[in-house]
Amino acid sequence: MNEKSPIQIPDAGTVANLAAVFAAAPVGVMFVDGGGAIVAANPAATRILGRSTAELQGLTPADPTWAAVKPDGTPFRGDEFPAKLALDQGAVVADVVMGVFDPASRRHRWIRIHAVPLFRPGEPRPYLAYVLFDDITAARQTETRERARNRCLELVARGAALPDILEAIVRGVEAEAPAQICTILLVDAVAKCLRHGAAPGMPEYFNQAVDGLPIGVGVGSCGTAAATGQRVVVEDIASHPYWQPFTAIAARAGLGACWSEPIRSSRGRVLGTFAIYHRRPAAPGAEDIARIEAAANLASIAIEHAQTQVELERQARIDDLTGLCNRRHFWTQAEVEVARALRYGGELSLLMIDVDRFKRINDTWGHKVGDLVLRALGDTCRQCLREVDVIGRLGGEEFGVLLPETEGLKAVEAAERLRESFANAPVALPEGGSVNYTVSIGVTTLDGQKADLEALFGQADRALYAAKGAGRNRVCASPAVGLPAPASVADGESAQ
Ligand code: GH3
Ligand code: MG
Ligand code: MG
Repeated sequence: MNEKSPIQIPDAGTVANLAAVFAAAPVGVMFVDGGGAIVAANPAATRILGRSTAELQGLTPADPTWAAVKPDGTPFRGDEFPAKLALDQGAVVADVVMGVFDPASRRHRWIRIHAVPLFRPGEPRPYLAYVLFDDITAARQTETRERARNRCLELVARGAALPDILEAIVRGVEAEAPAQICTILLVDAVAKCLRHGAAPGMPEYFNQAVDGLPIGVGVGSCGTAAATGQRVVVEDIASHPYWQPFTAIAARAGLGACWSEPIRSSRGRVLGTFAIYHRRPAAPGAEDIARIEAAANLASIAIEHAQTQVELERQARIDDLTGLCNRRHFWTQAEVEVARALRYGGELSLLMIDVDRFKRINDTWGHKVGDLVLRALGDTCRQCLREVDVIGRLGGEEFGVLLPETEGLKAVEAAERLRESFANAPVALPEGGSVNYTVSIGVTTLDGQKADLEALFGQADRALYAAKGAGRNRVCASPAVGLPAPASVADGESAQ
């Protein structure tokens, strides 16, 4: 750094010749005079900096249009420019990374600069600096994108919440191109619409308006991309037919262009959209396409992973055949409901339902028809009970129902209604005809201060046993309900 350059340039004429020699060089070459002003620049320099030779001529480090920044985002002062340092210190300044504003693309370009001071023979002070630089924008972007990608994959692997991962993806892309605003919308396959995913750079009113946007051709860039599975590039929102219904809100949010990429699952299903918005009308370049595709890929990994997690959790809670809670989940729900009832002093009742002579149904019609009956029983429960009631398949042909905020006598009424519904709803068979079935139901209710779940289930079980014993197709209540004691076991058969 402190050694003087061995290159000795005798006069300004030689500088012009050197500029000609380097005209074909792929790297930027400029000569800067003792005051820091550019005196010559080769074609590569004009291309990299996005300014003509005439525009560069005479520019000094003090010129505000450089808007030069360091890799950490802080500004470069004029006296920190490599050419200025080389002139001031009379020494080579190597490997300085600088972001300079490119007026042509309106973005920062990243360059790596070497500055070499040039001396006239016998003079101690350099009279020119020779500045050499190459464009490292693409390499830096790849590096930044890789880092952002790794950060997001790490979040996925650590099981972070999906909204946090999607926001990290959006912020990663926005950091690469700060003039762009990015959004992720998620497909709601049931409601056939798009839902808010992540859009930290958009105003709240915009995000609210977009949440629930129907999926369809002509519904903005994202609705169309989700419907067609194709990238939708709207270069000018104000004049594009897809945006016609939304021009007012787009104008309010100051949006000029919107390019939307469908986010596809590994099997090609559209999971959502990744959109890049601009303040002004704009067409994407190759870099933008690469960026939007990479972001959509990353979002796809995150969304698929989250959906797999949700499905696994659902499978751990749900009985496959009937879609009701399975035994374990029903038990957990019962613990929650009992705790709630005890804390707030509410009522809670429990029904235990068992299909009568189910073995006979299986033996007569086959196991498949038996399964149809179990499914129909689940459907009837869902139709007859309230949203807050918890229905579970406890095993085989035995079901449980938790009735929150329901005292014993009301629970007996509900059980009686259910029993009648089953008895009056024959199960239609695919090949024609139908099967009738009945159930027996045991009813109990939470008794004051006791929180013993085992005891509660035991009471319901004994009441069910009594209903079986009393002839089946009937409801019996445990003593906790306060009805007269149920009939004794009449036909000597066991409930199970
Ligand atoms: P009860 O009136 O005393 O309850 O008589 P039941 O025949 O219903 O009682 P039992 O416990 O003797 O028989 C229950 C039958 O349920 C036996 C078993 O094969 C059948 N089962 C258990 N799980 C399933 C299932 O998932 N599908 C079908 N189709 N049958 C099942
Ligand atoms: Mg049975
Ligand atoms: Mg049984």
